[in-house]
Amino acid sequence: MMEENLENWIILLDCTKSMNREDFPPNRFQTALSGIKIFIEEKSKALKKVRISIITFNKKISVVSELTDDVDSTIELISNKKFKKMNLSSGSINMLDNALNEALEILGQQIQNISGFYNCILLISDTEDLNISEKTQKKIKGLQISINIITFSLEKNNANMYFPLKAQHFTTKQDLLNGMKELALLKKKEKNNAQHFSEIMLEHGKKTRDFMEEIALKLRYPTLDELIKFNKKSRKINCQICFSKISPIKKYSLYKTGRLCPHCGTPMHLHCAGTWALKSSEHKGLFRCPYCYTLLKIPGAILNGLNKKSNKKEGSESKKQLVKMIVIGPEKLKQKYSDCLYCFKPIKNVSFQKTFQCSNCKAYFHKKCLEEMYKLDKKCLNCNGNIV
Ligand SMILES: [Zn+2]
Ligand SMILES: [Zn+2]
Ligand SMILES: [Zn+2]
Ligand SMILES: [Zn+2]
Repeated sequence: MMEENLENWIILLDCTKSMNREDFPPNRFQTALSGIKIFIEEKSKALKKVRISIITFNKKISVVSELTDDVDSTIELISNKKFKKMNLSSGSINMLDNALNEALEILGQQIQNISGFYNCILLISDTEDLNISEKTQKKIKGLQISINIITFSLEKNNANMYFPLKAQHFTTKQDLLNGMKELALLKKKEKNNAQHFSEIMLEHGKKTRDFMEEIALKLRYPTLDELIKFNKKSRKINCQICFSKISPIKKYSLYKTGRLCPHCGTPMHLHCAGTWALKSSEHKGLFRCPYCYTLLKIPGAILNGLNKKSNKKEGSESKKQLVKMIVIGPEKLKQKYSDCLYCFKPIKNVSFQKTFQCSNCKAYFHKKCLEEMYKLDKKCLNCNGNIV
C-alpha cells in the first residue's frame, strides 16, 4: 500500500558544457544546484521521510550521491565549492537514456525490497533535444515511476522533445527556483493533475504486473543441510506462513515443498506462499517475504492450481473438470519455472525423458510421476482435474 509520506527521488542533473553559460547567473549549473537545494529542503520539511539520490550526466553517468534520507549531507555535498566547480564536459546522444536506466536500476531495487514508497525521478536540463528510448519509457511505465522534467533556457520552448512526457520550462532564474519549490510542495494527488506531470502514473494493469514480475525474485531450493533440518522433528524450523511442518494445503511436508526466501532464508511451503500471493493487494500473484519484505514470485502453475480449487468449492461437485496431459518438447521447457508438481523436483531439460503438461493448470510432470499419479486416482495433483 502506498503511503503519502514516503518518497524516493532520483535527481538527474545535466552536466554538459552548455551548463557553463552565464545567462542564469552565476551560471546555469550553479542555478540548477540552488534549485535542487530548495527542492530538497522543502521536500524534507513537508514529508515524513524522503530519500534523495543525485546522478549527474554528460558523456559519463555518475551517482554523486547515493539514495539516502540524510538530506543534510546531500545538501552539504552540492553546496561544496569543489562540487560547484565540477568539470562540465560535452555529452553524448544516449546520455539521458543511460542516466534514466541508472535511476531505474536504483528504484527497481527499492521496489524489490521495500513497499510503500512513492518513486520519482526529477530531470533537470537546459536542453530540450534529449531522447528517451521507447524501451526506457516502457520500463518507467511498468515500474510506475513518476518522472518530472524541468528545463530552462532564455528562449521560450515550443516543441516538446520528451514526448510523450511533458516538461516544465522556465526562462528566468527566479521562475526556475520558484518552480522547484512548487514541485517539492505538490501533493501526490495534485501531481497527477499537474500539467508537467507525466501520464505514467495513470497506467495500471497487466503491463505493470509484468514488470513487477521481472524484478521479483524466485524462492530458492533448500540446500542439503537445510533439507536435513526441514526433516528433523526436534528442530523448530517451520514454514513461516502456516507455522508448521505440514502445509494445510494438500498436507505437503516442508521437506517436499519447502522453499526459502533468496534474500533472508526464511522457509515457507510453496502452496502457503502461493495462497498468500493470491491474496496480495499489491500485485496478484506476487508477494513479500513475511520476514524481510523482499518481493517474491511463485510458479504460475501453482497459482493456477490454487485458483482452480477455490473455484471448485463454490461450484457444484457434479462439474468435473476434464484435463489432458500434453507432451512437451525440450525447447518449451526453457521457461523459468519447470518444477514437476508431483515430486517437486526440477524438470531437467533432457530430450530422452518425456515431460507432460496439464492442459488446465499448466503444471509440468515427469513421465514417471504422471504414471504414478494416474495410478493413484487419475487426477492432476495440482488442479484436481480428471485426466482423460
Ligand atoms: Zn506452510
Ligand atoms: Zn526474506
Ligand atoms: Zn516428478
Ligand atoms: Zn492440472
